Amino acid sequence: MWHHGLISHNTPVLVLDVAGAEALILERIQPLTTHRVALSEASGRVLRQNVASDRDQPPFDRVTMDGIAIAYRDWTAGQRHFEIVGVQAAGSPPSTLAKAGQCIEIMTGAVLPRGADTIVPVERITREGNVARVDDSATVVERRFVHGRGSDRPAGEILLGAGSRINAPEIAILASAGLAEVDVAARPRVAVISTGDELVEPGAPTAEHQVRSSNDRAIEAALERHCRGRVTRALLKDQRAQMLDRIRQLHADNDVLILSGGVSMGKFDFVPGVLEELGVELVFHKIEQRPGRPMWFGMSRERKPVFALPGNPVSTLVCVYRYVIPALKRALGETEAPRELVALDEDVRFDADLTYFLPVVLSWSSQAAARAHPRPTNTSGDFVSLANTTGFVELPRGADLYPRNSPVRLFRW
Ligand code: AMP
Ligand code: MG
Repeated sequence: MWHHGLISHNTPVLVLDVAGAEALILERIQPLTTHRVALSEASGRVLRQNVASDRDQPPFDRVTMDGIAIAYRDWTAGQRHFEIVGVQAAGSPPSTLAKAGQCIEIMTGAVLPRGADTIVPVERITREGNVARVDDSATVVERRFVHGRGSDRPAGEILLGAGSRINAPEIAILASAGLAEVDVAARPRVAVISTGDELVEPGAPTAEHQVRSSNDRAIEAALERHCRGRVTRALLKDQRAQMLDRIRQLHADNDVLILSGGVSMGKFDFVPGVLEELGVELVFHKIEQRPGRPMWFGMSRERKPVFALPGNPVSTLVCVYRYVIPALKRALGETEAPRELVALDEDVRFDADLTYFLPVVLSWSSQAAARAHPRPTNTSGDFVSLANTTGFVELPRGADLYPRNSPVRLFRW
């Protein structure tokens, strides 16, 4: 796993490969706190409790068609005309079929009446006064159109486990379990700090030698979408004093720091020095990967992770998706999703001894296999070529040729 550098936990490892870097990050991540939120706030959050069903699912024999409720033994005895002795809507307590040859008009969602066990849909019935005549063409099947009590889940069964990401189906389950509030992981507070004298905010006047800062916006979007992160953005100049000041404050106010820019070997790449001066302990600097080789990672004295990512926009995004989002998911306690493997749709040559992260667009073959079409960028500065890509695939180091049809791991934007 290790390329070169030292392996002991106490000693900073300088250059490692992707899996080694990921492991060093993940093993240092502390869980975020748990808090209780209203169900309307729970979407996209990670559940921190097990949820058991307090009732059978469904909670009663639930009628699934509008029609009449009859006793099946009447049908098998040859009865075709049923006296209508009542009507029962959804939401009413169950009525009773007292005598043979009777029926109750019944609506979808109603409780199956006592004494009834079978539904004949309204489309198979002709009504004559207070008699319902079942059409000759009808086939009547015992317990058809009855969704039996407890047939989905018995009361007491765990419906959702801690670690579930709450999406629409989980919201429905929580609501049906009667939970107006649920325990979820706190949203991570993340400072996203762009550094660079050349950067200006979108909307501000821009001189020819300047560029608009885009990394912070992209990181914010990624973290909002994948981790419900609460992002505070800051744009800093390449000035040590200002950096020290602002980063110290942002560290105090947040759970995680992400910096972009200023981690390479340039004369104004102050970030690693500033972080170390702030007491952030270096865990590693540089990963054998392209793009994003100069990535720096450390832990503050308060055990907060600090990701300092190279500023080239493709590198920044690749590092966010490959390292930062998995770390935040770990902090949230989200159950790990299975890895997504797709087939390369072309031979890919890459002769550097580095893991290669290659942007792709997915499509599906007629055999229902996901195929990844390479969309290489024109250097790691070329983020405009990422438009409408699906994400990127990881081509592990150690090969020069990744043949068409190779299974490769996909990371989706
Ligand atoms: P650096 O990592 O500071 O050497 O920056 C590498 C390249 O990324 C430079 O061309 C920067 O202008 C560009 N860059 C750095 N930060 C950002 C940002 N926030 N938005 C867009 N481009 C950036
Ligand atoms: Mg810079």
